[in-house]
Amino acid sequence: MTFTPSYIPLFASGEFHQRLQELEAMLESCRVCPHDCGNNRVNNELARCYSGYLPVVSSYCQHFGEEPALGGSRGVGNIFLGNCNLRCVYCQNFQISQNWKIERMNEVSFERMAEMMLELQGKGVHAIGFVSPTHFVPQIVRALSIAIPRGLNLPLIYNTNAYDSVDVLRLLEGIIDIYLPDLKYSDDDFGYKYSKVKMYTGISRAAIREMHRQVGSDVVYGDDGVVKRGLIIRHLVLPNDLASSEDTLHWIAKELDNRVTLSVMSQYYPTHKAVTTELLDRGIRESEYDKVLRLLEKYGFENGWMQDFESHDYYRPDFKDRIEPFKVEV
Ligand code: SF4
Repeated sequence: MTFTPSYIPLFASGEFHQRLQELEAMLESCRVCPHDCGNNRVNNELARCYSGYLPVVSSYCQHFGEEPALGGSRGVGNIFLGNCNLRCVYCQNFQISQNWKIERMNEVSFERMAEMMLELQGKGVHAIGFVSPTHFVPQIVRALSIAIPRGLNLPLIYNTNAYDSVDVLRLLEGIIDIYLPDLKYSDDDFGYKYSKVKMYTGISRAAIREMHRQVGSDVVYGDDGVVKRGLIIRHLVLPNDLASSEDTLHWIAKELDNRVTLSVMSQYYPTHKAVTTELLDRGIRESEYDKVLRLLEKYGFENGWMQDFESHDYYRPDFKDRIEPFKVEV
């Protein structure tokens, strides 16, 4: 079966342009993300994310670091957006997410961003991935409006911190094929303390609920064994249970579905301000990671991947065989 990205029929129907207009209107008094700053980004007024009108692209490349079911043999064509609407003290990309004076020099035209997508497609990647796209959604869709009639024909991955506006996500229905949110916290105090955002729990859950409404619980694979459509929730395990892993997994199982695909990550290490932040200034312990793996079993998750504790390589594409030994050891 040949997979057709959902934006192809949307573009042909004219609906895509209607969505683009609605998204661009949000820039005039910015409500592109839940911060609702109200600044005029068309006039380059900066606010929380330090981002003006044109998109900031820090880099773009054929990337092999995503989950194997996304990267396949030819990788994801990632486009890394500069700046961010969060301020995570442990951000592993802080050089591009929290460095707006430098990033301002990486502004590109919509035309150039469209060329990047087509260039990556020419390299044979399986999908185009937008990394930290939240604050640049209208700009991404504007660039897509140039790339699609020129032949862009790959699934789009929305790789986000989940602090997304539901109104914006609704306008992305039928444009984005694969949602890849990172569900960071289930405690608003931790969200504020470590990422400087209010109400992370409710906002991220509402966003992921909307993503789930659009693409459902079951991931669709292509003939090449690579994901073409669906929702994959990432969960980075933090030291001292700052990610509230049990609350997070319980919510997914109870409010969404335990058939939802998860990606459990062990790769946390203290960097940026976390090096001197109490409770975050060490890596996770194996016992902390094992506890989360047992929770996968407790809540009946079977779809997804988990990183090896030490190497951070991904295990095989379902949890079952990895979880069973922990049952024995308990
Ligand atoms: S996208 Fe940026 S300017 Fe717009 S509401 Fe969010 S943080 Fe504020």
